[in-house]
Amino acid sequence: MDPTKATGCDLCSEARSCACADEAFPKITPRIKRYEGKGLGLQAVAASPGQTAYRKGEWIGEMTGELVPLSTYKDNKWVVEFVRSDIEPPTAVCQLYCGQVGNCFRLLNHDCRPSALLVPLKVSSRWIMGIQAKQDIFDGSEITIRYGRDFFGETCRCQTCLRKRQAVCEQRPAGRK
Ligand SMILES: [Zn+2]
Ligand SMILES: [Zn+2]
Repeated sequence: MDPTKATGCDLCSEARSCACADEAFPKITPRIKRYEGKGLGLQAVAASPGQTAYRKGEWIGEMTGELVPLSTYKDNKWVVEFVRSDIEPPTAVCQLYCGQVGNCFRLLNHDCRPSALLVPLKVSSRWIMGIQAKQDIFDGSEITIRYGRDFFGETCRCQTCLRKRQAVCEQRPAGRK
C-alpha cells in the first residue's frame, strides 16, 4: 500500500483531479551553495535581485526521496518522518529517506531558528513533504529547516548558534582570553 495515497487536495477545492502538483511550487529553484562549516545548502533566489524570494506562508517546493517503512533508519540525517495530519492524532506513516535519491531540497541545512518548515500536505491526491516559508525569505539568504539539534554533531553549527557563541565571546571582559 502506498502510504502517501490520499483523496482531494489541500491547495484547491477540487475533489478529484487538479493541476496543483505541477503548478503549486515556484518554477525558480534555490541555488546550491557551499556554506562554510556546513557543507552544501540552499540559497533563496528571487525573480529579480534584492527582492523577497518567498513571502511568509508561501510554498517553496517539495522534498522528494525514497519512502521506506517507519524505523528503517535511526539517527540518520537524511531521514524525515512523514506525518499525516488527517489521521487523529497525527501519525507518522513512513520515513522519507533522501540519502540516495531526491531533489535539491534534501540539501537544506538545519537551523535552530529556521526560515522554513517541513509540512506534509495533500496535493493532487498524494501526500508530499512540502517546504513552506516560515518568514519572509530574501534573495540571497539561506533557506533552513529544523531537523534537530544534533544535525551537525555535538556542536550545532547553525547560524543561530554561531551568533549566540560569538555574542558570548564578545561579552567577555577585555584582557581575558
Ligand atoms: Zn489541487
Ligand atoms: Zn543551532
